[in-house]
Amino acid sequence: MAGKDSELERLRYEMDAAQREIDNIKSRLDPLSYRRDSIKSQIDSSNYRIADLKHSVDNEYQAVRICQQAHNKLDADNHRYRANSFKEALQREYDIKKGYYDQLNNIKYDFDSAVSALRDAKARKQRARDAFNARLAIVKAENERRKAEWKETHCRVCGKAIRYHVDWKRVPDLCPECKEKEKAKWRETNCKKCGKPIRYNIEWTHIPTICSTCKGKH
Ligand SMILES: [Zn+2]
Ligand SMILES: [Zn+2]
Repeated sequence: MAGKDSELERLRYEMDAAQREIDNIKSRLDPLSYRRDSIKSQIDSSNYRIADLKHSVDNEYQAVRICQQAHNKLDADNHRYRANSFKEALQREYDIKKGYYDQLNNIKYDFDSAVSALRDAKARKQRARDAFNARLAIVKAENERRKAEWKETHCRVCGKAIRYHVDWKRVPDLCPECKEKEKAKWRETNCKKCGKPIRYNIEWTHIPTICSTCKGKH
């Protein structure tokens, strides 16, 4: 009954369309969050390597100082050389990490616009659902009201229930079957005097042979 209301149909279509969009955005968000997580873990590894390299640079400089105190210039130079190559590796690692952050920013932009589109679609679905429920309540009340306009009575012959509308001029007292039977009891004959048709019921004890007009003249 509710499905026949065109406004309800339209709102249901709107809800479905919003749901399809929600599903669509979610399917875009999943790979994005997967990529974001994998880049974050690459940044974590990069941070470990950076800490490691910083530690190596410190160790080499410490070794340089020890060698200088021991006046061992050759070893001090060696350690300084190693310290420099660790520093170069550290710089390369910083560049790599910066590349990860650039990727992360791109993903964040895509992610944020998808999240805001998702929020819009969800709000649209909610609005459609609220309007749907409000309309459904109206349609149901209207149906109830219409249903209340139909009343029931009983056939005076067989007692069967008969439905009738309150606007009908006459409340029926016969069910369709009994009405047919009642109709069948009526026959027609012709006036013996003027030949005009006379209607009579077969249950009458006296069947007229003269019409009322001719009877009146008599
Ligand atoms: Zn009946
Ligand atoms: Zn007559």
